Amino acid sequence: MNRMRKVLSATRGFVTALWIVGFVRLATAADATDPLSRIDVAGLKRHCSFLAADALEGRGAGTRGGQAAAAYLVSELKRMNLAPPPGWKDYRQPFGNQYANVIAVIPGRHATLKDEWIVLGGHYDHVGYGTAENSNGPVGKIHNGADDNASGTSLLLELASAFSDPASSLDRGVIIAFWDAEEIGLQGSKYWVSHPTVSLSQVKLAVNLDMIGRMRDDHVAVMGWRSAAGLRRAMVDANTDVPLRFGFDTAVTADSDHYSFYAARRPVIHFDTGKHVDYHRPSDDVEKVNFEGLVRLGRFVARMVMHAANMPTLPEFRQDAVNEPALAKVDPKARLSPPVRLGIRWTPQRSDDDRHLDVADIIPNTPASKVGIRKGDRLLKFDRWNGGTLDSFREAISVAPAEVEMEWQSPGEAETKSARIQLAGDRVRLGITYRTDPALPGCGVISTVMSFTPADRAGLEPGDVLLSLDDRELPPFAEWGRRLPADSAPITLSFERNGQPKRVTIELR
Ligand SMILES: [Zn+2]
Repeated sequence: MNRMRKVLSATRGFVTALWIVGFVRLATAADATDPLSRIDVAGLKRHCSFLAADALEGRGAGTRGGQAAAAYLVSELKRMNLAPPPGWKDYRQPFGNQYANVIAVIPGRHATLKDEWIVLGGHYDHVGYGTAENSNGPVGKIHNGADDNASGTSLLLELASAFSDPASSLDRGVIIAFWDAEEIGLQGSKYWVSHPTVSLSQVKLAVNLDMIGRMRDDHVAVMGWRSAAGLRRAMVDANTDVPLRFGFDTAVTADSDHYSFYAARRPVIHFDTGKHVDYHRPSDDVEKVNFEGLVRLGRFVARMVMHAANMPTLPEFRQDAVNEPALAKVDPKARLSPPVRLGIRWTPQRSDDDRHLDVADIIPNTPASKVGIRKGDRLLKFDRWNGGTLDSFREAISVAPAEVEMEWQSPGEAETKSARIQLAGDRVRLGITYRTDPALPGCGVISTVMSFTPADRAGLEPGDVLLSLDDRELPPFAEWGRRLPADSAPITLSFERNGQPKRVTIELR
């Protein structure tokens, strides 16, 4: 059953519009007829248990254990009736010292897009018995590498199975690549990039899965999202069901096979679920793999790749991606102080239900100093504020128009006093600033949130990525004034935080 989602205006003039629209029909949960249902715990456990068994002796590249792993991959690909690259007798691409990549091809069905490819890869080798160079010890024992990278290898087999389902109906082709000799310098992926089985310029996206078996708290680390405009947004749109929480790294490091493609200027996305105490130790065993997490990530990757395979066009590699300095990390909790508009300090309220506001002090040469309110007076009304917490009052000051009505009472006096007061500074409607980002076309990255504003109350944080305003594309920052309602009214913002899609309705004052 399709879960319809509102999408941004189809008039958006970017390639990203294409990323977005097609997701509507893919935002479905896995059911029995869904190719995604082929990705399950039982299958993953079967593969991972075989690959990470002691019998495979840690799958060192070129060793008998490594070759046994390759033979297993070959037999599984045959069982799925997947084809090797055209003209090959076998799925193996031999190189180096008895090493071999294992490659299968799922052809695209579109008349012209079938000449474009998505490479879905991960390494199947590990470090064998472990040496001082490649093991965190103890050395000389079988390093099973269940997470590194029987996890990614197993998921690749399940993804191959899902994509071989005719219901997947892919326009572009998908190359399923099991790289060898990653642990000795990304050799397998480097070899393929220099001896590709399709023209490298026709590789539109390379996805790498390496160490994805230890998901904790829904968290998945992502590298490469800046390598093509709109990639991150595409991930957000595929992040349905129980959304994963992505850690978007701005750096792209040469520590796995995605880098061979990145160095060749192809768009890449790398996923991993983080290092752990068993990393490159004999204790990286299958019992410690989070198979439920692996299924969730697998179905996410399947949704994303299926969508990418069927897009009319895919964004090219962003040449700027390699020159970008690491983006400054924002502190999501950081808040800008609101400007002084009134000029009164208040005595702290005694409790959460204390709704009185008593003047502690008047700041000289401020609007408040000119209306006659004094230390010890109690404020009763301010614009639409009519008693409440100090925070709600602070927000009332932030959002108040230039001139407001104020009412207060002095101690021991029955009569109240009132005045119209001209506030300093401009009122705040929402309370954020954001910047645009060439890797995130059509989006806005929140750079600041001001305290005591509607945005702060609604829980927006620096680093959140705005996606739409009232289900329409974001206006340029300077035009927000015109797009926000003139008077008190709700607005709806769609945004993502750590790749999880979110929506919030905010009452403006
Ligand atoms: Zn490794």
